[in-house]
Amino acid sequence: MADSFENDPGFPYLGISREDKAKSLARPFDSKKNCWVPDAEEGFVQAEITATKGDQVTVVTARGNEITVKKDEAQEMNPPKYDKTEDMANLTFLNEASVLANLKERYAAMMIYTYSGLFCVVINPYKRLPIYSESVIKHYMGKRRNEMPPHLFATSDEAYRNMVQDKENQSMLITGESGAGKTENTKKVISYFAIVGATQSAGAKAEEGKKGGTLEEQIVQTNPVLEAFGNAKTVRNNNSSRFGKFIRTHFSSAGKLAGGDIEHYLLEKSRVVRQAPGERCYHIFYQIMSGFDPSLRGKLKLENEVSYYHFCAQAELTIEGVNDKEEMGLTQEAFDIMGFEDTEVMDLYKSTAGIMHMGEMKFKQRPREEQAEQDGEEDAANACHNFGVNHEEFLKALTKPRVRVGTEWVNKGQNLEQVNWAVAGLAKAIYARMFKWLISRCNKTLDAKEIQRDFFIGVLDIAGFEIFDFNSFEQLWINFVNERLQQFFNHHMFVLEQEEYKKEGIQWTFIDFGLDLQACIELIEKPLGLISMLDEECIVPKATDMTYVQKLNDQHLGKHPNFQKPKPPKGKQGEAHFAIVHYAGTVRYNATSFLEKNKDPLNDTAVAVLKHAEGNQLLLDIWSDYITQFVRSYYEFGGSTMLFTQKLQEEQAALAKEGGGGGKRGKSSSFMTVSMIYRESLNNLMNMLYQTHPHFIRCIIPNEKKQSGMIDSALVLNQLTCNGVLEGIRICRKGFPNRMIYPDFRHRYAILAADAAKDSDPKKASTGITDKLCNEGHLNDEEFKVGNTKLFFKAGILARLEDLRDEI
Ligand code: ATP
Ligand code: MG
Repeated sequence: MADSFENDPGFPYLGISREDKAKSLARPFDSKKNCWVPDAEEGFVQAEITATKGDQVTVVTARGNEITVKKDEAQEMNPPKYDKTEDMANLTFLNEASVLANLKERYAAMMIYTYSGLFCVVINPYKRLPIYSESVIKHYMGKRRNEMPPHLFATSDEAYRNMVQDKENQSMLITGESGAGKTENTKKVISYFAIVGATQSAGAKAEEGKKGGTLEEQIVQTNPVLEAFGNAKTVRNNNSSRFGKFIRTHFSSAGKLAGGDIEHYLLEKSRVVRQAPGERCYHIFYQIMSGFDPSLRGKLKLENEVSYYHFCAQAELTIEGVNDKEEMGLTQEAFDIMGFEDTEVMDLYKSTAGIMHMGEMKFKQRPREEQAEQDGEEDAANACHNFGVNHEEFLKALTKPRVRVGTEWVNKGQNLEQVNWAVAGLAKAIYARMFKWLISRCNKTLDAKEIQRDFFIGVLDIAGFEIFDFNSFEQLWINFVNERLQQFFNHHMFVLEQEEYKKEGIQWTFIDFGLDLQACIELIEKPLGLISMLDEECIVPKATDMTYVQKLNDQHLGKHPNFQKPKPPKGKQGEAHFAIVHYAGTVRYNATSFLEKNKDPLNDTAVAVLKHAEGNQLLLDIWSDYITQFVRSYYEFGGSTMLFTQKLQEEQAALAKEGGGGGKRGKSSSFMTVSMIYRESLNNLMNMLYQTHPHFIRCIIPNEKKQSGMIDSALVLNQLTCNGVLEGIRICRKGFPNRMIYPDFRHRYAILAADAAKDSDPKKASTGITDKLCNEGHLNDEEFKVGNTKLFFKAGILARLEDLRDEI
């Protein structure tokens, strides 16, 4: 079997050939001289120590330069047997330089997957590699992680096997920067489970009578549907997911595929009405305009050119190498396989087109009046044609909404800015609600009721930590999510290490480094934390972003270690109001628009019009849980403003107390701030994750030029910090990361204590060897632990034993 895998076209990108291994071992190496020293360009460069003086060492670098550095700046180099190592936790010297060098060396050979303890690290190859073929999948099925070279499939198979054997739900957490490859890897994982779960059901016929494809196909085809509506071209990634998702694949207890469901997080709504230079709106807008279905534009009353539509034509219109017409074909095909009804698809297109027309609606201000009115009706009529509502009513709602003044309801004129603002707000809300609808519609298809759902494997594809020049409300949330996920990882590592020590009968208390992150998490989410204070500020009359900042400063500045005054950035743009010390670094946040983004207000009167759409069921569905303030205050609270405000405050207090986890959604959902909704879904996610056995995938973008094979060392090192890989190594070093089972230890080091090694019991033989080494002063008690089946070593100790071997 191993031989046949070596013949697979994918093998050269996965496993190390024998010749390669031999070449490495022949490399000259001297552990006392060879080291890594910091280098501005390469991160670290190889060097040879020529002299040592006090705490300074003089080295000659591989480039031939002689430099003197502090001793601890020169990091140890691992012996050649670790070249291109598959699991970096096995390195005897666990340092940044070695981790970076190993990843670089493997990437140069296009070996993109590498383990680092609990992490599976992957560097975006920016080219198609033959490592995801069905034959590769078959080689990985049913194998243990240490039997095969590193691969996402090995991690996936481990999750699958754990699920079936331990009868426990599993999760796979895939994070990384934009463009790092999260979504590509997520797709491969899902395909893997679809194949493995279907293989398990061999003999069972594909479900008959159900519209569309088989369940396996449907699970895989959910993606094109979501990507059409949730992905867009950005500067960093031509197919950037502008939302996070958690996809659960369900299985029967025998491991047979039993359906799926998806949860989504933080869709970027602003893109619907605004795009930065070099970017596009969501793919679907351009697909609809592509002419794939020649009659579609006519039905939707659209012009021929996408450039006509302001909402989706502010920057780029096309993507290099992407044909929107072909993509539309794939979207259509996915809709068919997913079993969408024609009317459902048409309603999606109508609503999207309606948004495009909304962006063309023109208004003008009446002279000497704070009142705007429409400037032409055609675009509104086109929008309303698609929405199925009366355009005069719609325009009136936008220009003269019904608002509450004291206890009265009046039609209040809006100025031009207010109207334009309301139009954009409504367009964003329609799109976001449509996206939510789309997800639940996919879930309906993936709900295969015929097969019992016993366990699931959840795959999380979510943006990693973000530190930009300008960080706003969105970054605060994504960073908070990542802080929680990192805490989850640290805690998991603690639990596993503890279990391992216990199993091996070792007295050792590993530290729960999850607690390190608690202070920052509390600063953000606890009562009087950043988020609850923001929610409170949203109901205070006349509050502004700056009154919010003032209150934050009063509450936390100088009192909470993770809350700081933003330091002026080094050569970077962007004003900031406060800074938070996250585990991945200190981030400067700008509070402008925090209140607005959190309240996310809508023109209720216009919503009331949309709630009566005819001929567009989708539009009716997306607003069905939205209760306008007017209806609420009149029908629920007898028209009393005081009662209304009091009720609002009570609800918010109750939510804060429950940590947002309560089931108080439904009819009160329009009371909730954006943060409340986010908090609730984050808490649900975390609760679910804590009940699974997690597996961690870390995606890395090699450079910012989308170029294959090129590594920007500083960029990669920064990601290794932000994604927790270096943190994982730091934690590892606090314990006993290198482990060897007794027979292996005796075999390798018998040469150091021939007599002791003769004992027939491998454990006795091994401890005999370590005793001798201790007596000779080569080893001390602090550096290793004796377990039931293996020896545990501190980082670096095995290299010392290797040197002793070499000296003999
Ligand atoms: P975002 O956060 O913006 O959604 P992402 O991490 O999901 O980013 P992807 O969309 O998965 O990034 O990857 C970006 C691009 O990189 C892909 O469109 C593809 O061209 C390339 N890519 C990523 N991973 C692979 C891979 N394993 N093989 C080939 N190409 C890849
Ligand atoms: Mg993505």
